[in-house]
Amino acid sequence: MNSFFEKTKPKETLLRFDKAFSAFLSNFMADNPEMVEVHCPFCEGEAFFEAFILENCRYLRCKTCESLYNSPRLSKKELNNFYSKQPIENFYSESLPSLRERRIQFIMQPRWNILSNKLINNGVTFPVDKVMEVGAGLGYFIEVMQKDNAARRYVAVEPAKASHPYLQCLPNTDIVSTVLEEAPADICCESNLIFLNSVIEHPFSLKSFFDKISHYLKPEGIVAIVDMHSGGFDIEILKGEAQNVNPHLILQIGSIEGLRQLGKLHNLDLIDTFSMGEMDIDILYSYSRNLPLNHPLSGFSRLLEKSALRKDIQAVLKKHLATGYNGYILQKNLK
Ligand SMILES: [Zn+2]
Repeated sequence: MNSFFEKTKPKETLLRFDKAFSAFLSNFMADNPEMVEVHCPFCEGEAFFEAFILENCRYLRCKTCESLYNSPRLSKKELNNFYSKQPIENFYSESLPSLRERRIQFIMQPRWNILSNKLINNGVTFPVDKVMEVGAGLGYFIEVMQKDNAARRYVAVEPAKASHPYLQCLPNTDIVSTVLEEAPADICCESNLIFLNSVIEHPFSLKSFFDKISHYLKPEGIVAIVDMHSGGFDIEILKGEAQNVNPHLILQIGSIEGLRQLGKLHNLDLIDTFSMGEMDIDILYSYSRNLPLNHPLSGFSRLLEKSALRKDIQAVLKKHLATGYNGYILQKNLK
């Protein structure tokens, strides 16, 4: 039986993506692009140990906050170059519309249900004046928010041009077609709420990215983040084999302490943390089914055959904030 993970990310599209990306990656790296060393992007700590290496891309774990990050990484210039040439934008623009219903039903709607409740519990009253989503993709999340009348005005920040025809269909929405760091200030400023769905793993510098986030938020405004979690079960066990860890595209994965420290550096207080992870055990199950029978983790393929068992283990991980995705609410303080 297909797991939840396989329903939302069908195997054949993953394989197609891996093949195209790997071929592109070896060509790109053959030109010896400039690499730079960085400290922990979350807490600025300097002490680390090596966590894993993925296709010659080195990931470190910060000894202070336990976040994961890529260092040395492509320089800012090389990273822009990498993005302008890499094949993923085409892949997503071609493939995601066919997955639209499933993405909305299984991912965006449940995500909004959780986030809107958390926001209400933290004092937000809907509709707010302005909501901004950075990395809006094809606009599915804004579409779901609009059904609930979350805001009077929406801003969709999305540099991928292929997304724009989809975003243009959304009412009351301004589209910003650059990265946040280059966005026009008049459109973004005075936001009451900013959503970052799987975004913070990408910026070359989280410092300049969060300088902007903090700047565009109204005092007491809120940033809601859903992102990969460095203390999550999938990444702790599978490391570089975990899904979604793509070399040079995933530059950093935060821990809870990392998010707290990052917020502190930008006048943002971490006021709520909760698990958003539904797939760790499904991912492990899916991974273990392809292992040789004498591999130490292959037993998981039999142990996790029962979907009820997978569901129960996932619930325990959620309770202990040990899943691969977390949600975070940060509020701009008045300092
Ligand atoms: Zn750190």
